[in-house]
Amino acid sequence: MPTHDLAVVAGDGIGPDVTVEALRSVRAAADRFGFGITTTDYDLGAERWLRDGVALDDASLEGLRRHDAILLGAVGDPRVPPGVLERGLVVALRVALRHAVNVRPVRLYPGVTSPVRDLTPERCDLVIIRENTEGLYAGGGSTVHRGTDEATAIQTSVTTTAATRACVGYAFRLARARRRRLTLCHKTNILVEAGALWSGIVEEIGHDHPEVAHDYVHADAMCQHLPLAPERFDVVVTDNLFGDIISDLGATLQGGLGVAASGNINPAGDTPSMFEPVHGSAPDIAGTGRANPVAAVLSAAMCLAGLGEREAALALEAAAASVLAELPVGPALGDTTAGVGRRIAERVRDVDPGAVVDPDASLMTALSAAAPRTRRGGGG
Ligand code: NAD
Ligand code: MN
Repeated sequence: MPTHDLAVVAGDGIGPDVTVEALRSVRAAADRFGFGITTTDYDLGAERWLRDGVALDDASLEGLRRHDAILLGAVGDPRVPPGVLERGLVVALRVALRHAVNVRPVRLYPGVTSPVRDLTPERCDLVIIRENTEGLYAGGGSTVHRGTDEATAIQTSVTTTAATRACVGYAFRLARARRRRLTLCHKTNILVEAGALWSGIVEEIGHDHPEVAHDYVHADAMCQHLPLAPERFDVVVTDNLFGDIISDLGATLQGGLGVAASGNINPAGDTPSMFEPVHGSAPDIAGTGRANPVAAVLSAAMCLAGLGEREAALALEAAAASVLAELPVGPALGDTTAGVGRRIAERVRDVDPGAVVDPDASLMTALSAAAPRTRRGGGG
């Protein structure tokens, strides 16, 4: 029996609440589809930092490297200064594990109300591929005359050929397994240096993928197109900053943080990829049972897809989407976190994997097809 070895960083606030539910569904899928799951919990997050001042220690990082994939809940705590865990743990992991790609699906599931009036599921099914390790987020910069009226800040943006190629190459592979359209989103008319590098690499890799049509949209224009005409897009590939911004817009379109899932992927497959809901630790509702676990379940489904367990991933998606359709409209969950999680896990056991989403059109199928062909990447 194939066994997948998962690292679990449940983290802070609602992170542990939703991660427990994601694992419940993953185990139900493993039972049904005949594979094994082993999990190892990592003691990282606010409590650890408060206890011994460590956000990410070398031993944990080396341990994490040895798993097939990582499930992350969320980090962040009012007792810890902002950024310490977000940068020191989550961003540090993305960089150390060379997760050049952040996959953010934007899919409106049936029965979910989008704030965009009249938006239908048929019109809203795209995926944002955000470069995840560089751009303005690479952290370079300096301030001169700090603390004076002449204070001057310089924040540099880094765009390497290697990470851009990895990201664009993955985006084309994903597009090939979907509707075969790719859009580069950037600001090439103003950010001419980085823009030319991105455009050149899209042309270069596009040349090897004549079956995928590609075009270009400026990042600001994207903020108009996404709410008005999301059906224009299939795979959108973009840099770190623009990806951060447009993927929040995407998350809103598809019904908000309760459903927004993501994966941090190393396209080379030589380190484990890491899957996490887009939301944070939500300290305002931690421990109340009001956290929606669907985003965590869908992230775990993406994880299974990347490990080559396509049928299991489809079953998780179908179960989560069918429970989602039964939840009340609006921010109230209508059940507890565990209640929703149990309903999803129950349904994973017998749902038709094609019940809600056509398997050929599901991101899960494309993620399986685009997964790196390594022991870790699975896919066979
Ligand atoms: P948040 O995503 O934690 O919460 C924003 C709002 O959405 C809150 O009102 C919250 O109650 C609600 N919400 C979030 N997830 C929900 C869910 N699953 N179900 C129902 N409601 C949900 O963002 P924030 O409040 O800005 O940040 C809280 C902490 O999380 C901060 O420390 C922040 O830095 C951190 N954070 C971490 C990550 C990460 O771990 N990758 C991502 C974003 C924010
Ligand atoms: Mn963001």
